[in-house]
Amino acid sequence: MAASIPPFSLLRNYAATTARAFVTVKVKPSYTISSTTLHHLPSRSRRLQFYASATNNEEAAARAAAANADSGAPTIFDRIIAKEIPSSIVYEDEKVLAFRDIDPQAPVHVLVIPKFRDGLTQLGKAEARHGEILGQLLYAAKIVAEKEGILDGFRVVINNGSDACQSVYHLHLHVLGGRQMKWPPG
Ligand code: 5GP
Repeated sequence: MAASIPPFSLLRNYAATTARAFVTVKVKPSYTISSTTLHHLPSRSRRLQFYASATNNEEAAARAAAANADSGAPTIFDRIIAKEIPSSIVYEDEKVLAFRDIDPQAPVHVLVIPKFRDGLTQLGKAEARHGEILGQLLYAAKIVAEKEGILDGFRVVINNGSDACQSVYHLHLHVLGGRQMKWPPG
């Protein structure tokens, strides 16, 4: 008998032309593992098996998102910027928007994005002309940390490309804090 394990969610890039363009598209893989197999494993092995499955799915989703990376298609972040879908905004100015991540990995997890993507689907696409906005994004990360009361310890992460599990191709900084961070990161 098979046990269906509820899925993890992971955002996928989406194409504007599809019917799904107007919803937050989540990858909701369901893990089907034989309950016989499962119950014969020690609990740590079971946890590791779930972790491995989730990690593999995250990587697969990132590879799928990367396939569309250079298509110029809008991402979910365009709809957040346009306020067509709600987000919890922490900071906003003319050039930058910072809002809480829908799937927080720490008590504070805020995404800082440029309002105008201007080719910055990922950090690896940065050119000299992007220097100003890159600086503004970093400064906004500091403002977010200050507002969230985590100036004493926070982490700024940019996932670049599928090997780093980037899932949304609109440059974004993750500002994480509110708990002890570990090093090295996974
Ligand atoms: P990446 O994996 O590309 O570095 O990060 C993308 C982030 O965007 C993920 O942490 C994911 O949870 C977040 N995210 C995806 N969709 C939404 C959404 O609709 N709203 C918000 N607030 N965050 C989202």
